[in-house]
Parts: sequence; C-alpha cells; structure tokens
Amino acid sequence: MDFGNNDMSGGGKEKTGLPDGNDVRDASFVAEPARQVPVAGRYDVIVAGGGPAGVCAALAAAERGCSVLLLEAEGCLGGILTSGLMSNILDAKNKGGLLKSILAELSGMGMASGHHACVDPEAMKIVLENRVRRAGIHVRLRTRVAGAKVSSARRVEAVFTESCSGREAWIGKVFVDATGNGDLGALSGCGYELGDPDGRIQAASLCALIYGVGAGAIPDLLEIEKDGGKRRLYELLDQAGRRPSYSKPTLFSLNENGFLLMSNHQYRVYPDDADALTDAVLQARAEIWEQIAALRRTDPRLAKLRIGTTAAALGLREGRRISALYRVVLDDLREGRSQPDPVCRGTFSVDVHGMFPGNSGYTSAGFKVRPYDIPLRALIARDAVNLLLAGRCICGDVYAHASYRVVGNAAPIGEAAGICAALAVRQDLPPEEVSYADFVQAGGNPHPHV
Ligand SMILES: Cc1cc2nc3c(=O)[nH]c(=O)nc-3n(C[C@H](O)[C@H](O)[C@H](O)COP(=O)(O)OP(=O)(O)OC[C@H]3O[C@@H](n4cnc5c(N)ncnc54)[C@H](O)[C@@H]3O)c2cc1C
Repeated sequence: MDFGNNDMSGGGKEKTGLPDGNDVRDASFVAEPARQVPVAGRYDVIVAGGGPAGVCAALAAAERGCSVLLLEAEGCLGGILTSGLMSNILDAKNKGGLLKSILAELSGMGMASGHHACVDPEAMKIVLENRVRRAGIHVRLRTRVAGAKVSSARRVEAVFTESCSGREAWIGKVFVDATGNGDLGALSGCGYELGDPDGRIQAASLCALIYGVGAGAIPDLLEIEKDGGKRRLYELLDQAGRRPSYSKPTLFSLNENGFLLMSNHQYRVYPDDADALTDAVLQARAEIWEQIAALRRTDPRLAKLRIGTTAAALGLREGRRISALYRVVLDDLREGRSQPDPVCRGTFSVDVHGMFPGNSGYTSAGFKVRPYDIPLRALIARDAVNLLLAGRCICGDVYAHASYRVVGNAAPIGEAAGICAALAVRQDLPPEEVSYADFVQAGGNPHPHV
C-alpha cells in the first residue's frame, strides 16, 4: 500500500528520532507544545455537567432567554439518575419548580414508583433530552471540561473541552459548575474542600439494574421494607459466603420485575485519581457478579435473577466542595437555620456512607437535622467572579454536604443557579451583585415552605 505523503512515521528514517534536548525517556514531565485551540461557540451561559443540577441550571437559564451550552462527559444526561443508575429521589416532597414538573411528567408516563420517587432511568434520559432540546439548549455529550481560561480579574473567559472533536474552546459570559466533583471550580483556580479535615471521604458505589424475578415474589428483600429488606439481603449474601462490602445492600423496586441494586462500597476513592476510580469500578463490577451468582444459588426465588447492566458511571457521593460566599455548616442543619436568600429547604438527614473506620454502612454520625435553608450565596463562587456552583459541589462542610447532596436538593439548587446566571447576563452584573428580590421575582425559590 502506498501511503504517499500521509506516512505517519514522520517522513523518513533520519527524522524519526526525538528532537534535540527533549528526550522524554527519563523525564518526569513532558512539555506540551502550546497550541491555538479553535473557538467552537459563544454563549450567555455555559453549564459544565449534565446531572440533575446541570440540566435544571441549563433549563432555567434557557427559559429566561439565554443562549446555553450544556457540556456532559458521559453519553446521556441525568448524572447519578441515569449513567449512575440510582434514580431514587430523596428530599423532593417539599420542592416545586423543575424537579416537581419532571417527576410529574415521569409519573404521567407510568415511569415513577415506590414510596419515594424511584424513576425509570431510561425514561429519565428521554424526558431530560426532550426538555433541553425543546428549550433550544446546545447539548454536547461525551465532552469533558478539561481546562479553563481565567483572566487576571478572576473572570472565567472560556472553558476547554476534550471530545472526539478534539480540544475546543467555548466562550461564555457566566459559567455554572455542575460537575458534581467541582471540576470547573478547581480548573478555574477556586479554593475547595474535599472530604473531612482528616482527608476521609464517603464511600462510592457502582449500581446495577437487575431483572428476572417478580417484585411480588420477594417483598421481604425490597427497600420498601426499610432496614428489614436490607438486613435480609445482607444475610442471604452472607450465608452464601459473599458478605457484601456495603452492609446495607439495597434493592429498589423499579417496576413489577426490574430493580436497582446498590450493594457495594468502594472506600477512599477520590474524584481526581483515575487509577483508583478504575480499580473501584473493576472491583465493584466483579463483586456484583459474585453477589448475583450467590443469590441465584441461595434462594430458589432468585434462581432466574440476571444483571441487565451495571452503571456506566461509578457513583461518587463526595467530590470537591468549592468555596463560595457562604459555607453551609452542620450547625445550620442542627438549628434549622433560616437564611436571607434561600433557594430551597433541605430536610434530609446527615447520611455518611463508609467514611469512618469500621463503618461499612451509613450513619447520621449522631446529628439530627431540622429543616434548613440553602442560601444563594453558597452557590456563588468566592474565587471567580462569574462562576456559579450547582448540585453537590456547592460550598458546605462535610456533614452539611452529607444532607444537601441528594437529588431533591441538587435539582432545585441547579435551577436557582440557572436563574441567577440568567439575571447576571441580562443585567450585565456578576452573580454576586444580582439582588435576591430580582431572583425571587424571576421565579427563584418556587418551593413550598416547610
Ligand atoms: C451511590 C449513590 C447513591 C445515591 N443515592 C441517592 C438516593 O437514593 N437519592 C438521592 O436523592 N440521592 C442519592 N445520591 C446522591 C446523588 O448522587 C446526588 O444527589 C446527585 O448526584 C447530585 O447531582 P449533581 O447534578 O450535583 O451531580 P451528578 O449526578 O454527579 O452529575 C454530575 C454530572 O457532571 C458530569 N461531569 C463530571 N465531570 C465533568 C466534566 N469535567 N465535564 C463535563 N461533565 C462532567 C457527570 O458525568 C455527571 O453527569 C446518591 C449518590 C450516590 C453516589
């Protein structure tokens, strides 16, 4: 075959050696050549991360007249609800706005079940996709935010992404970090916290969709039985010689014969360690296969149990918490504090998974939560003037985060970030200078008070 001028070898033997003075064989660092990155688009609002928070942020900004780009690293929208396969929505009862309307749409389709709001992950994908398309949002899947250009005045001017289209730059007026792990905040040079002061972090879990058994045949094993269901599932696995790494394995009923399984804990997995993330996925997937085989052997009712799919994304409960104008702290929760600028009220308990030595389940760490306000200031980044935070990467301490991290708060927080971003664009102000009265008038905090 004649490769002509396209020969990838560099055009001849004499040119294939390493350039002078740049021998990388023993180097610890390799200098990457500077390059011009093409500008792929300009938007009023750029949202990094298309989980529940990011989708709500993008919708809220687009509904208020902004041009919006939504960048998502995985192959679908929904984050933990879809690529993470954990679509059991907690702390949603006292919420209105986009979350309520999305859940109502899913209920209308017959795609929500259970005493919480366990929704069908595939239905969630299509509902979110339809909504962002109708809103005219430019969505980019499989596109990871990998860098940011920040001015000397601490203004995020552009984000850089990596995808099959190569490296691209996207210019925006206001940015929203909804990556869950605070990637954009960190890439923009913002301060952040991760884990507790001793560097401990909550356990991660890989969830799975399983099927092949009727829900009516195994009511005693289901999540609806609360601790009873978890205990019996644990005992079954233990009897079969496959004691689970998560001591409260949970089976959520999705429909008459489909279930979501959350049955493993991966300990000390940090969101910025690709090797640890990979090891965690491989270990978790192997464990799930062993668990299903054990259940099939041990309980005749489960003989036909099958794995439909394991999640595309490892579920990370903790990521970076980016510094903002306000830090939600444990005492806010214990005292049920009101705030002058609420975006919604958190009511969920402190829920810490596998962070403390010897705890392979979850614990409230002895703290009781009274309904508390989540303030808009906790969404406004301290170290970048045009960056908002949405979802679990807002600013809070480790115990406050363990409560507000759930979807029933992440989605309304995202909606609030989108509204604030739209006002900042329309008024040509940094988010910090948007008045709370304007925020409310624009539809901020549409949630019934509890
Ligand atoms: C195992 C597990 C079980 C849980 N169980 C429940 C439960 O039962 N009920 C409940 O309400 N909550 C639960 N949670 C909490 C739930 O994860 C959070 O509420 C929710 O994920 C927060 O939404 P988010 O949008 O902030 O983050 P995520 O859902 O994590 O979404 C972030 C999105 O950003 C994308 N992304 C990340 N980095 C980049 C990047 N650099 N560039 C572009 N895109 C990026 C991700 O792919 C993802 O789609 C659970 C969490 C875990 C991990």
